Amino acid sequence: MNVLVINCGSSSLKYQFINSDTEEVMAKGLCERIGIDGSQITYQKAGGDKDITVSPMPDHTKAVQLVIDKLTDPVNGVVKSLKEIDAVGHRIVHGGEKFASSVVINDEVIKAIEECNDLAPLHNPANLIGIHACEKLMPGVPMVAVFDTAFHQTMPPKAYLYGLPYEYYEKYKVRRYGFHGTSHDFVSSEAAKFLGKDRKDLKIIVCHLGNGASISAVMNGKSVDTSMGLTPLEGLIMGTRSGDLDPAIITFLSNKLHMPAEGIIDILNKKSGVYGLSRVSSDFRDLEKAYNEGNELAKITLETYSYRVAKYIGSYVAAMNGVDVIAYTAGVGENTSLVRKMVGEYLTYLGTNVDPEKNKIRGEIVVLSDPGSKVTTMIVPTNEELAICRETVRLVK
Ligand code: ADP
Repeated sequence: MNVLVINCGSSSLKYQFINSDTEEVMAKGLCERIGIDGSQITYQKAGGDKDITVSPMPDHTKAVQLVIDKLTDPVNGVVKSLKEIDAVGHRIVHGGEKFASSVVINDEVIKAIEECNDLAPLHNPANLIGIHACEKLMPGVPMVAVFDTAFHQTMPPKAYLYGLPYEYYEKYKVRRYGFHGTSHDFVSSEAAKFLGKDRKDLKIIVCHLGNGASISAVMNGKSVDTSMGLTPLEGLIMGTRSGDLDPAIITFLSNKLHMPAEGIIDILNKKSGVYGLSRVSSDFRDLEKAYNEGNELAKITLETYSYRVAKYIGSYVAAMNGVDVIAYTAGVGENTSLVRKMVGEYLTYLGTNVDPEKNKIRGEIVVLSDPGSKVTTMIVPTNEELAICRETVRLVK
Protein backbone atom coordinates (compact mmCIF):
# COMPACT_ATOMS: atom_id res chain seq x y z
CA MET A 1 0.00 0.00 0.00
CA ASN A 2 1.04 3.62 -0.57
CA VAL A 3 0.42 5.62 2.58
CA LEU A 4 0.53 9.39 2.90
CA VAL A 5 1.53 10.33 6.45
CA ILE A 6 0.54 13.82 7.49
CA ASN A 7 1.59 15.87 10.51
CA CYS A 8 -0.37 19.08 10.37
CA GLY A 9 0.45 22.16 12.46
CA SER A 10 -1.29 25.53 12.55
CA SER A 11 0.86 26.97 9.74
CA SER A 12 2.81 23.95 8.55
CA LEU A 13 2.25 20.48 7.16
CA LYS A 14 4.92 17.76 7.16
CA TYR A 15 4.36 14.76 4.93
CA GLN A 16 5.92 11.47 3.98
CA PHE A 17 4.73 9.12 1.27
CA ILE A 18 5.64 5.55 2.18
CA ASN A 19 5.38 2.24 0.38
CA SER A 20 4.23 0.06 3.25
CA ASP A 21 5.43 -3.19 1.64
CA THR A 22 9.06 -2.11 1.38
CA GLU A 23 8.74 0.63 4.05
CA GLU A 24 10.61 2.87 1.62
CA VAL A 25 9.95 6.61 1.84
CA MET A 26 9.12 7.47 -1.77
CA ALA A 27 8.94 11.21 -1.11
CA LYS A 28 8.76 13.60 1.79
CA GLY A 29 8.62 17.27 2.53
CA LEU A 30 7.05 20.19 4.27
CA CYS A 31 4.61 23.02 3.54
CA GLU A 32 5.50 26.15 5.51
CA ARG A 33 3.85 29.50 6.24
CA ILE A 34 0.37 28.26 5.38
CA GLY A 35 -2.02 31.23 5.61
CA ILE A 36 0.94 33.63 5.82
CA ASP A 37 2.83 35.53 3.10
CA GLY A 38 5.73 33.65 1.55
CA SER A 39 4.34 30.08 1.75
CA GLN A 40 6.53 27.40 0.26
CA ILE A 41 6.54 23.66 -0.27
CA THR A 42 9.64 21.49 0.03
CA TYR A 43 9.50 18.21 -1.86
CA GLN A 44 12.16 15.54 -1.88
CA LYS A 45 11.91 12.35 -3.85
CA ALA A 46 13.89 9.33 -2.59
CA GLY A 47 17.49 9.77 -3.69
CA GLY A 48 16.75 13.23 -5.11
CA ASP A 49 17.56 16.77 -4.09
CA LYS A 50 15.24 19.04 -2.14
CA ASP A 51 12.95 20.98 -4.43
CA ILE A 52 11.52 24.19 -2.95
CA THR A 53 8.59 25.94 -4.63
CA VAL A 54 7.25 29.27 -3.41
CA SER A 55 3.50 29.14 -3.91
CA PRO A 56 0.58 30.85 -2.18
CA MET A 57 -1.19 28.62 0.37
CA PRO A 58 -4.09 30.55 1.85
CA ASP A 59 -5.23 27.43 3.70
CA HIS A 60 -4.38 23.79 4.41
CA THR A 61 -6.59 22.51 1.58
CA LYS A 62 -4.33 24.32 -0.85
CA ALA A 63 -1.28 22.85 0.92
CA VAL A 64 -2.63 19.29 0.60
CA GLN A 65 -3.47 20.00 -3.06
CA LEU A 66 0.15 21.05 -3.66
CA VAL A 67 1.43 17.89 -1.96
CA ILE A 68 -0.80 15.78 -4.24
CA ASP A 69 0.38 17.78 -7.29
CA LYS A 70 4.00 17.12 -6.37
CA LEU A 71 3.43 13.39 -5.75
CA THR A 72 1.61 12.99 -9.08
CA ASP A 73 3.81 15.33 -11.13
CA PRO A 74 4.50 13.66 -14.53
CA VAL A 75 8.22 14.49 -14.37
CA ASN A 76 9.26 14.53 -10.72
CA GLY A 77 6.34 12.70 -9.08
CA VAL A 78 6.30 9.17 -7.66
CA VAL A 79 2.82 7.99 -8.69
CA LYS A 80 0.66 8.51 -11.77
CA SER A 81 -2.51 9.68 -10.10
CA LEU A 82 -4.39 10.26 -6.90
CA LYS A 83 -5.78 6.71 -7.23
CA GLU A 84 -2.39 5.38 -6.14
CA ILE A 85 -2.66 7.01 -2.71
CA ASP A 86 -4.26 4.11 -0.82
CA ALA A 87 -4.58 5.59 2.67
CA VAL A 88 -3.71 8.60 4.80
CA GLY A 89 -2.32 8.44 8.34
CA HIS A 90 -2.73 11.56 10.47
CA ARG A 91 -0.68 12.37 13.54
CA ILE A 92 -3.05 13.70 16.20
CA VAL A 93 -1.57 15.21 19.33
CA HIS A 94 -4.26 14.72 21.97
CA GLY A 95 -6.72 11.88 22.21
CA GLY A 96 -7.60 12.56 25.85
CA GLU A 97 -9.10 9.51 27.54
CA LYS A 98 -11.18 8.76 24.46
CA PHE A 99 -8.49 7.05 22.41
CA ALA A 100 -6.24 4.29 23.73
CA SER A 101 -5.23 3.23 20.21
CA SER A 102 -5.29 4.40 16.61
CA VAL A 103 -8.66 4.50 14.82
CA VAL A 104 -10.10 4.74 11.32
CA ILE A 105 -11.43 8.27 10.93
CA ASN A 106 -15.19 8.79 10.57
CA ASP A 107 -17.59 11.55 11.65
CA GLU A 108 -17.84 10.17 15.17
CA VAL A 109 -14.04 10.10 15.54
CA ILE A 110 -13.76 13.67 14.27
CA LYS A 111 -16.31 14.75 16.87
CA ALA A 112 -14.39 12.99 19.63
CA ILE A 113 -11.11 14.63 18.52
CA GLU A 114 -12.89 18.01 18.58
CA GLU A 115 -13.92 17.27 22.15
CA CYS A 116 -10.22 16.98 23.07
CA ASN A 117 -9.45 20.43 21.62
CA ASP A 118 -9.34 22.25 24.94
CA LEU A 119 -6.62 19.84 26.14
CA ALA A 120 -4.39 20.81 23.18
CA PRO A 121 -5.72 24.10 21.84
CA LEU A 122 -2.67 24.77 19.68
CA HIS A 123 -2.40 21.33 18.13
CA ASN A 124 -5.69 19.44 17.81
CA PRO A 125 -7.57 22.10 15.81
CA ALA A 126 -4.66 22.17 13.33
CA ASN A 127 -4.66 18.36 13.12
CA LEU A 128 -8.40 18.46 12.36
CA ILE A 129 -7.89 21.02 9.61
CA GLY A 130 -5.50 18.53 7.98
CA ILE A 131 -8.14 15.79 8.18
CA HIS A 132 -10.80 18.02 6.62
CA ALA A 133 -8.47 19.13 3.83
CA CYS A 134 -7.68 15.50 2.94
CA GLU A 135 -11.35 14.51 3.10
CA LYS A 136 -12.17 17.23 0.63
CA LEU A 137 -9.42 16.39 -1.86
CA MET A 138 -9.33 12.61 -1.47
CA PRO A 139 -12.92 11.55 -0.83
CA GLY A 140 -13.23 7.84 -0.16
CA VAL A 141 -9.55 7.31 0.68
CA PRO A 142 -9.42 5.67 4.12
CA MET A 143 -7.80 7.76 6.84
CA VAL A 144 -6.43 6.78 10.23
CA ALA A 145 -5.79 8.92 13.32
CA VAL A 146 -2.68 8.03 15.33
CA PHE A 147 -2.51 9.76 18.71
CA ASP A 148 0.55 10.96 20.63
CA THR A 149 -1.26 10.17 23.86
CA ALA A 150 -2.74 6.74 23.04
CA PHE A 151 0.18 4.49 24.06
CA HIS A 152 0.21 6.03 27.55
CA GLN A 153 -3.48 5.31 28.21
CA THR A 154 -2.38 2.11 29.98
CA MET A 155 -0.87 4.19 32.82
CA PRO A 156 -2.54 3.33 36.13
CA PRO A 157 -4.29 6.07 38.18
CA LYS A 158 -1.35 6.25 40.61
CA ALA A 159 0.81 7.38 37.68
CA TYR A 160 -1.62 9.73 36.00
CA LEU A 161 -3.30 11.49 38.92
CA TYR A 162 -1.99 14.78 40.27
CA GLY A 163 -2.24 15.61 43.96
CA LEU A 164 -5.17 17.93 43.28
CA PRO A 165 -8.81 17.88 44.44
CA TYR A 166 -10.26 14.85 42.67
CA GLU A 167 -13.14 16.90 41.27
CA TYR A 168 -10.76 18.59 38.79
CA TYR A 169 -10.05 15.21 37.30
CA GLU A 170 -13.75 14.35 37.27
CA LYS A 171 -14.94 17.67 35.88
CA TYR A 172 -12.11 18.80 33.65
CA LYS A 173 -10.06 15.64 33.08
CA VAL A 174 -6.99 17.27 34.63
CA ARG A 175 -4.53 14.36 34.75
CA ARG A 176 -1.27 13.29 33.17
CA TYR A 177 -1.62 12.02 29.61
CA GLY A 178 1.93 11.87 28.24
CA PHE A 179 3.03 12.46 24.65
CA HIS A 180 5.47 11.04 22.05
CA GLY A 181 3.51 7.80 22.55
CA THR A 182 4.03 6.71 18.95
CA SER A 183 7.78 6.98 19.48
CA HIS A 184 7.83 5.26 22.89
CA ASP A 185 5.77 2.40 21.45
CA PHE A 186 7.91 2.11 18.30
CA VAL A 187 11.26 2.33 20.09
CA SER A 188 10.38 -0.16 22.83
CA SER A 189 9.15 -2.64 20.16
CA GLU A 190 12.22 -2.18 17.98
CA ALA A 191 14.53 -2.57 20.99
CA ALA A 192 12.92 -5.89 21.95
CA LYS A 193 12.96 -7.07 18.34
CA PHE A 194 16.65 -6.19 17.97
CA LEU A 195 17.47 -8.13 21.14
CA GLY A 196 15.48 -11.10 19.89
CA LYS A 197 13.10 -10.86 22.85
CA ASP A 198 9.40 -10.43 23.39
CA ARG A 199 8.53 -6.94 24.64
CA LYS A 200 6.01 -8.59 26.98
CA ASP A 201 8.94 -10.07 28.97
CA LEU A 202 10.88 -6.82 29.41
CA LYS A 203 11.06 -3.69 31.54
CA ILE A 204 12.18 -0.92 29.19
CA ILE A 205 12.93 2.75 29.84
CA VAL A 206 12.71 4.82 26.66
CA CYS A 207 14.48 8.20 26.70
CA HIS A 208 13.05 10.25 23.81
CA LEU A 209 15.42 13.22 23.86
CA GLY A 210 14.66 15.61 21.00
CA ASN A 211 13.62 19.25 21.02
CA GLY A 212 10.70 18.05 23.04
CA ALA A 213 11.79 15.30 25.40
CA SER A 214 10.09 12.64 27.47
CA ILE A 215 10.90 9.37 29.21
CA SER A 216 8.62 6.40 29.60
CA ALA A 217 8.54 3.21 31.62
CA VAL A 218 7.33 0.38 29.40
CA MET A 219 6.61 -2.75 31.40
CA ASN A 220 5.58 -5.97 29.68
CA GLY A 221 4.75 -4.00 26.53
CA LYS A 222 2.64 -1.33 28.23
CA SER A 223 3.41 2.24 29.22
CA VAL A 224 3.12 2.45 33.00
CA ASP A 225 4.52 5.96 33.44
CA THR A 226 5.86 8.84 31.41
CA SER A 227 7.31 12.24 32.15
CA MET A 228 5.02 14.60 30.22
CA GLY A 229 1.71 15.51 31.80
CA LEU A 230 -1.54 17.27 30.94
CA THR A 231 0.57 19.12 28.38
CA PRO A 232 4.07 18.53 26.97
CA LEU A 233 5.51 21.09 29.41
CA GLU A 234 6.03 18.69 32.31
CA GLY A 235 9.03 16.49 32.94
CA LEU A 236 12.52 16.81 31.51
CA ILE A 237 14.33 20.04 30.74
CA MET A 238 13.88 20.39 26.97
CA GLY A 239 15.15 22.55 24.10
CA THR A 240 13.09 25.58 25.13
CA ARG A 241 10.68 24.12 27.74
CA SER A 242 11.36 24.20 31.44
CA GLY A 243 9.93 20.82 32.38
CA ASP A 244 9.11 20.24 36.08
CA LEU A 245 9.14 23.20 38.42
CA ASP A 246 7.50 24.51 41.57
CA PRO A 247 4.06 25.71 40.37
CA ALA A 248 4.33 28.71 42.70
CA ILE A 249 7.04 30.09 40.39
CA ILE A 250 4.27 31.05 37.98
CA THR A 251 2.62 33.59 40.30
CA PHE A 252 5.99 34.65 41.71
CA LEU A 253 7.30 35.56 38.24
CA SER A 254 3.94 36.95 37.21
CA ASN A 255 4.24 39.52 40.04
CA LYS A 256 7.89 40.29 39.36
CA LEU A 257 7.47 40.68 35.60
CA HIS A 258 3.98 42.27 35.76
CA MET A 259 2.84 39.68 33.31
CA PRO A 260 -0.31 37.50 33.29
CA ALA A 261 0.09 33.75 33.88
CA GLU A 262 -0.29 33.09 30.13
CA GLY A 263 2.83 35.17 29.49
CA ILE A 264 4.79 33.16 32.05
CA ILE A 265 3.60 29.88 30.53
CA ASP A 266 4.78 31.20 27.17
CA ILE A 267 8.23 31.81 28.71
CA LEU A 268 8.21 28.30 30.19
CA ASN A 269 7.39 26.87 26.76
CA LYS A 270 9.52 28.98 24.44
CA LYS A 271 12.32 30.71 26.30
CA SER A 272 13.33 28.24 28.97
CA GLY A 273 14.95 24.80 28.90
CA VAL A 274 18.55 24.49 27.74
CA TYR A 275 18.04 27.60 25.60
CA GLY A 276 17.15 29.82 28.55
CA LEU A 277 19.61 28.24 30.95
CA SER A 278 22.68 28.23 28.71
CA ARG A 279 22.09 31.52 26.88
CA VAL A 280 23.71 29.64 23.99
CA SER A 281 21.08 27.76 22.01
CA SER A 282 18.32 25.18 22.16
CA ASP A 283 20.36 23.06 19.76
CA PHE A 284 22.57 20.45 21.41
CA ARG A 285 25.16 20.68 18.65
CA ASP A 286 25.78 24.31 19.66
CA LEU A 287 25.72 23.38 23.33
CA GLU A 288 28.27 20.61 22.87
CA LYS A 289 30.53 22.98 20.95
CA ALA A 290 30.27 25.64 23.66
CA TYR A 291 30.94 22.97 26.31
CA ASN A 292 34.10 21.87 24.48
CA GLU A 293 35.22 25.51 24.30
CA GLY A 294 34.94 25.75 28.07
CA ASN A 295 31.70 27.76 28.28
CA GLU A 296 30.72 27.49 31.96
CA LEU A 297 26.97 27.99 31.48
CA ALA A 298 26.87 25.37 28.73
CA LYS A 299 28.57 22.96 31.16
CA ILE A 300 26.09 23.71 33.95
CA THR A 301 23.20 23.38 31.51
CA LEU A 302 24.30 19.98 30.23
CA GLU A 303 24.87 18.81 33.81
CA THR A 304 21.42 20.02 34.90
CA TYR A 305 19.80 18.44 31.84
CA SER A 306 21.54 15.08 32.30
CA TYR A 307 20.92 15.02 36.04
CA ARG A 308 17.16 15.39 35.42
CA VAL A 309 17.22 12.57 32.85
CA ALA A 310 19.12 10.31 35.28
CA LYS A 311 16.68 11.08 38.11
CA TYR A 312 13.72 10.14 35.89
CA ILE A 313 15.42 6.91 34.91
CA GLY A 314 15.96 6.16 38.60
CA SER A 315 12.32 6.84 39.39
CA TYR A 316 11.18 4.49 36.60
CA VAL A 317 13.46 1.74 37.87
CA ALA A 318 11.50 2.14 41.11
CA ALA A 319 8.15 2.27 39.27
CA MET A 320 8.88 -1.05 37.54
CA ASN A 321 10.93 -2.56 40.37
CA GLY A 322 13.76 -3.09 37.92
CA VAL A 323 14.86 -2.42 34.37
CA ASP A 324 16.20 -4.61 31.56
CA VAL A 325 16.72 -2.09 28.78
CA ILE A 326 17.44 1.64 28.60
CA ALA A 327 16.88 2.94 25.05
CA TYR A 328 17.97 6.38 23.86
CA THR A 329 16.18 7.92 20.90
CA ALA A 330 15.39 11.16 18.96
CA GLY A 331 17.89 13.87 17.90
CA VAL A 332 19.77 14.23 21.19
CA GLY A 333 19.35 10.64 22.40
CA GLU A 334 20.61 9.21 19.11
CA ASN A 335 23.42 11.68 18.47
CA THR A 336 24.69 13.50 21.53
CA SER A 337 27.08 11.00 23.10
CA LEU A 338 28.10 13.58 25.71
CA VAL A 339 24.58 13.55 27.18
CA ARG A 340 24.47 9.74 27.19
CA LYS A 341 27.85 9.72 28.94
CA MET A 342 26.77 12.26 31.57
CA VAL A 343 23.50 10.41 32.25
CA GLY A 344 25.27 7.05 32.28
CA GLU A 345 27.57 8.10 35.09
CA TYR A 346 24.60 8.08 37.49
CA LEU A 347 23.49 4.61 36.42
CA THR A 348 26.50 2.35 36.89
CA TYR A 349 24.94 0.97 40.11
CA LEU A 350 22.39 -0.76 37.89
CA GLY A 351 25.07 -2.78 36.14
CA THR A 352 24.91 -0.86 32.87
CA ASN A 353 28.56 -1.39 31.79
CA VAL A 354 28.39 0.97 28.82
CA ASP A 355 31.44 0.71 26.57
CA PRO A 356 32.81 4.29 26.23
CA GLU A 357 33.94 3.60 22.65
CA LYS A 358 30.54 2.28 21.58
CA ASN A 359 28.90 5.25 23.30
CA LYS A 360 30.44 7.46 20.58
CA ILE A 361 28.24 5.81 17.92
CA ARG A 362 25.49 8.05 16.50
CA GLY A 363 22.14 7.49 14.88
CA GLU A 364 21.97 3.74 14.43
CA ILE A 365 20.43 0.86 16.32
CA VAL A 366 23.15 -0.53 18.54
CA VAL A 367 23.78 -2.03 21.98
CA LEU A 368 26.15 0.24 23.92
CA SER A 369 26.70 -1.96 26.95
CA ASP A 370 29.15 -4.84 27.25
CA PRO A 371 27.75 -8.33 26.57
CA GLY A 372 26.32 -9.85 29.71
CA SER A 373 25.55 -6.50 31.37
CA LYS A 374 22.71 -6.63 33.84
CA VAL A 375 20.98 -3.76 32.03
CA THR A 376 21.21 -3.34 28.26
CA THR A 377 21.74 0.27 27.15
CA MET A 378 20.93 0.96 23.51
CA ILE A 379 20.44 3.58 20.82
CA VAL A 380 17.22 2.92 18.90
CA PRO A 381 16.46 5.51 16.22
CA THR A 382 12.82 6.55 16.28
CA ASN A 383 10.67 6.82 13.18
CA GLU A 384 7.25 8.22 14.01
CA GLU A 385 6.18 8.47 10.36
CA LEU A 386 6.90 4.79 9.77
CA ALA A 387 5.02 3.94 12.96
CA ILE A 388 2.02 5.96 11.72
CA CYS A 389 2.25 4.21 8.34
CA ARG A 390 2.25 0.78 10.01
CA GLU A 391 -0.74 1.69 12.18
CA THR A 392 -2.61 2.97 9.13
CA VAL A 393 -2.00 -0.24 7.20
CA ARG A 394 -2.96 -2.38 10.21
CA LEU A 395 -6.32 -0.64 10.44
CA VAL A 396 -7.34 -0.27 6.80
CA LYS A 397 -6.12 -3.57 5.35
P1 ADP B 1 12.12 17.34 17.36
O1 ADP B 1 11.68 16.21 16.43
O2 ADP B 1 11.52 17.28 18.73
O3 ADP B 1 12.08 18.69 16.75
P2 ADP B 1 14.74 16.10 17.13
O4 ADP B 1 14.44 14.71 17.59
O5 ADP B 1 15.01 16.33 15.68
O6 ADP B 1 13.67 17.12 17.66
O7 ADP B 1 16.03 16.59 17.98
C1 ADP B 1 16.62 17.82 17.77
C2 ADP B 1 17.85 17.94 18.66
O8 ADP B 1 18.78 16.88 18.34
C3 ADP B 1 18.61 19.23 18.51
O9 ADP B 1 18.91 19.77 19.78
C4 ADP B 1 19.88 18.80 17.84
O10 ADP B 1 20.95 19.58 18.23
C5 ADP B 1 20.09 17.41 18.36
N1 ADP B 1 21.12 16.73 17.58
C6 ADP B 1 22.38 16.48 17.99
N2 ADP B 1 23.11 15.91 17.05
C7 ADP B 1 22.34 15.81 15.97
C8 ADP B 1 22.56 15.31 14.64
N3 ADP B 1 23.70 14.80 14.25
N4 ADP B 1 21.52 15.38 13.80
C9 ADP B 1 20.34 15.88 14.20
N5 ADP B 1 20.09 16.37 15.42
C10 ADP B 1 21.07 16.34 16.30
